[in-house]
Formats: sequence, structure tokens, C-alpha cells
Amino acid sequence: MLRAEKAKYRLKFLNIIETHLNKEQLMKLILLGAPGAGKGTVAKLLTKMDGSVQISTGDILRAAVAAGTELGKQAQAAMKAGDLVSDDLIMGIMGERLKEDDCKSGYLLDGFPRTIPQAEALKVLLADMGEELDMVVDIQVAKDVILDRLTTRRTCEGCGEIYNVKSNPPKEEGKCDKCGGAVTQREDETEEAISNRLDVYNEMTAPLASFYEKEGNLVSVNATSSDAVIDAIKAKLAS
Ligand code: ADP
Ligand code: ZN
Repeated sequence: MLRAEKAKYRLKFLNIIETHLNKEQLMKLILLGAPGAGKGTVAKLLTKMDGSVQISTGDILRAAVAAGTELGKQAQAAMKAGDLVSDDLIMGIMGERLKEDDCKSGYLLDGFPRTIPQAEALKVLLADMGEELDMVVDIQVAKDVILDRLTTRRTCEGCGEIYNVKSNPPKEEGKCDKCGGAVTQREDETEEAISNRLDVYNEMTAPLASFYEKEGNLVSVNATSSDAVIDAIKAKLAS
């Protein structure tokens, strides 16, 4: 083989390894952050980059409520009020979900864990499965920005796509650009439920940051734009 050709092959090989490593590195993440911090948006951007799956307990629960399943019936009242669904119910869902095949290509946990008991249970679950989390990203956004976002946020009932009446409305009012589903305000996005969700977050979920700091894999990102959050994650992965 010619020397130039050899070099070309070597480069190609290195590129393959690099792509593989990047995938490996972006394997298993938790996204922490208050409601409206942009966990869902960041998760969607990341899954496009590395082919991992986004697992949102909120989406799973909303689908169950919409389908009227037993799970949906059990979760509905707490969700509507902006309270948390019980840890047992959530661990039942996630214990199954994390064992599904698509999780092999990596996952981004969006909205889970949300309490210390859930984080402890997840730790046991992952240890049993012989898996380890790569990173826990805490997305920090100022409270006034969050309040503004949540009151103007609209969600597609069909596919979960997120819109904003001010900054990112669907092309046709009330209709999803992606799937044509109805774009509406979530039931828990009344002022009362929003304020309760933020209180619940501060009390039950915010302590997870120090939990994962002790575990040694916490990355805190102070950012309002999703792109800035992605850049911070990439920088961390490269370091
Ligand atoms: P948010 O915008 O508040 O992050 P989510 O879509 O993640 O909203 O969750 C919506 C609701 O679903 C929560 O207010 C809560 O009632 C319920 N929920 C979602 N994930 C969990 C969880 N891990 N533990 C308990 N309740 C949950
Ligand atoms: Zn849609």
C-alpha cells in the first residue's frame, strides 16, 4: 500500500474511534433543573447529536393520563396540582424503562430522579445492571426567566414538542409543525400549579445537586440558552 493511502486509512480509523468515543462519552446523563430550565430542549438537541434516547418521566406520565391507563389514573391528581407522583410509581416505570433495548445506545434522563429516594433507588438499579452514569448536568436559570417561560410555554399533545407563544410559536396557531397535533397549555401550567411546582422543586429536587456533587459527577451550568448548555457539556466531555 502506498504511504499516502496508509495515512488516509489511518485517519479514517482514527475518525471512527473518535466518533465511537464521543458516543461512549455521551452515554448516560441526568438533566437536573427547575421546571422550565430547558431540560427537554437540551435533551432533544443532545439525542440528535449522539443517537441516545430521551427519557422524560413527565412525558411518560402525560401519555398515560391521555390514554386513561391505570398508571395515568394514579398520577393525574398529583400532576394537575403540580405535586410529585409517588416514588414507588416512578421507580416502577423507570425500572422497566431503563431495561428496554433502545437504552443501549445511551439515554438522557429528563425529570428523573426528582427526589433523594429516587436517586438512591436509581443508584441501586444501575449497579444491578452494571451501568454507571457519565454526568449529571444541573441547568440553572434565574427564577424570573423560568416564570416567564412557563406561563408562555405550549406543548404538543401529540408528540410533546415544546413551543412558546412569544419566542417560538407554531407556524399555524395551535397546531404542531411536526405532527399536526394540538398545541395547548399544559394543565399544570396555571399560575397556581407553576408556583407549587417551583416550591416542590426547591424542596424535593434541588438537594439532588449536592447528592451528585458527592458522587463526583455533577456539572453545574449557569445558562439561559440551550446552545450554551450544550457547549458547556461538550467542554466538560473534552476536558
Ligand atoms: P417540569 O416541566 O415540571 O419539569 P415534567 O414534565 O418533568 O415537568 O413533569 C410533570 C409532572 O409529572 C410533575 O409535576 C410531577 O407531577 C410528575 N413527575 C414527572 N417526573 C416525576 C418524578 N421523577 N417523580 C415524581 N413526579 C414526577
Ligand atoms: Zn407534535
